[in-house]
Amino acid sequence: MRKLAEVLRDWEAIIGLEVHTELTTLETKMFCGCRLSHDDEPNANVCPVCLGLPGALPVPNEKAIESIVMAGLATNCEVMRRSMFYRKHYFYPDMAKNFQTTQGPVAFVMHGHLDLEVSGEGAAERPDGTIDKRQDGSYVAPIRILRIHMEEDAAKMNHLGGAEGRIGGASESLIDYNRCGTPLIELVTEPDLRTPEEARLFMEKLRQTFITLGISDCSMEKGSMRCDGNVSLRRRGETTFGTKTEMKNLNSFKSLHDALAYEICRQAEVLEAGGAVRQETRHWEPSRRRTVVMRVKETADDYRMYPDPDLAPFDLSDEFIERCRARVPELPDAKRDRYVATWGMRRADATKLAGDPATASFFEVAVVLVEPKIIPTLVNVMINLTPSFRGLSEAQVASIARLLAADALTFAQAREVLEVVDGTGADPERVVDERGLRQSTDADALGAIVDEVLDRCQSQVRQYHEGNRKVVGFLVGQCMKASKGSGNPKMFNQLLTQKLEA
Ligand code: ADP
Ligand code: MG
Ligand code: ZN
Repeated sequence: MRKLAEVLRDWEAIIGLEVHTELTTLETKMFCGCRLSHDDEPNANVCPVCLGLPGALPVPNEKAIESIVMAGLATNCEVMRRSMFYRKHYFYPDMAKNFQTTQGPVAFVMHGHLDLEVSGEGAAERPDGTIDKRQDGSYVAPIRILRIHMEEDAAKMNHLGGAEGRIGGASESLIDYNRCGTPLIELVTEPDLRTPEEARLFMEKLRQTFITLGISDCSMEKGSMRCDGNVSLRRRGETTFGTKTEMKNLNSFKSLHDALAYEICRQAEVLEAGGAVRQETRHWEPSRRRTVVMRVKETADDYRMYPDPDLAPFDLSDEFIERCRARVPELPDAKRDRYVATWGMRRADATKLAGDPATASFFEVAVVLVEPKIIPTLVNVMINLTPSFRGLSEAQVASIARLLAADALTFAQAREVLEVVDGTGADPERVVDERGLRQSTDADALGAIVDEVLDRCQSQVRQYHEGNRKVVGFLVGQCMKASKGSGNPKMFNQLLTQKLEA
């Protein structure tokens, strides 16, 4: 198969995502009072409603509806005043009542968008001119969101001795209904994404947004956030869409990216050989790096969708919507803009710090502990040093930034000190002093070492005066050695240059 970049020169990829997110931060299930916890003993959290026993009646979880409205407001959606629940029928033991309660044509929130900032590898040529291109070649792509609807999750099945997710071949299948009835929101995008990288960025941004809202832990690993990727191809310049395939089982950013990339190349090969893409659901096999057919697409008619007679339509009041709006915290984009405006941070740095709510709140505590001129060093430390540590406090990080800004430590030494103080609460300054790591910036003491080195290295001094400026590096090394690593290399460099030029 051809390489992705090459394929994308001839073909335009059209990508749409369907993202399922469990509202894991809620205490109870969607339509009953059972505890929301998947880690308990199997089938510990069940009742007649989530087991689908005849006659059991559902009662909707108001907090879950607040969460989906918040998700909608955070993604620029319109809150629909009236919507209702539908029954989507199917037969499978993971849902004992034989239908999933979900929403029909009108969802709680609809017609939104998330703005993606794309650059480099993921950038796609967009002929439609809707893209705000910047000078550096990056652009902002508004990815439209068709809807976010509410539904319930099914039970978890464990097929012993068989293939994951399939009954075929299993000798025994166990069902854990703890997960059954977990509130789930499904977001469907319009087919506005154009490259696997854009799709990955979209998921990342959505994840940051939902984590910031506090509505889910969004763990792709644990399955609380899952994604299906839809993709089709068309020749560059064409305006109608081709036939799409849908990929399930995309449970990491890498799987999402790689599966789409594979599928784009596969479809191109089929089309270039004069064949036609079949509309089907495919399964991504990460270990073999390919997609295989799961089933040929069922049609919506097969589900016999109709309004659930046990659940009255919802009429959301202004008051309810305003209450949800008030609970939406500052979102990553606004935070990024504030960091740039308040602290003159570089946009790329601000995007990184603002993207993760835990990092952002850590930064906002640390930043008040340092003087304004140390902020750039603090930002540098938080982006390049602290991500590999788990147990650092804001005070420790502020202290390291201060030491670095004062040239008392090199970056490598700072990493060593952080390794020592991580998880201990110890003061980095004390560790630096105890280990004698602090670099001297005492100009007299360092000047004496410089004089001694210049005296000793006459031939390098001669080379310098003959125009070989590179020997300064060697001389700095000699000074560092003479000071047993305690001198500040930047100061040595300055002093050496001064004396050599004098
Ligand atoms: P289905 O009925 O097969 O589930 P939908 O119309 O509900 O299809 O769309 C599902 C997802 O597929 C949406 O994210 C949508 O943006 C995307 N999609 C729809 N048509 C195409 C297409 N031709 N190529 C790529 N993605 C598409
Ligand atoms: Mg669909
Ligand atoms: Zn229950």
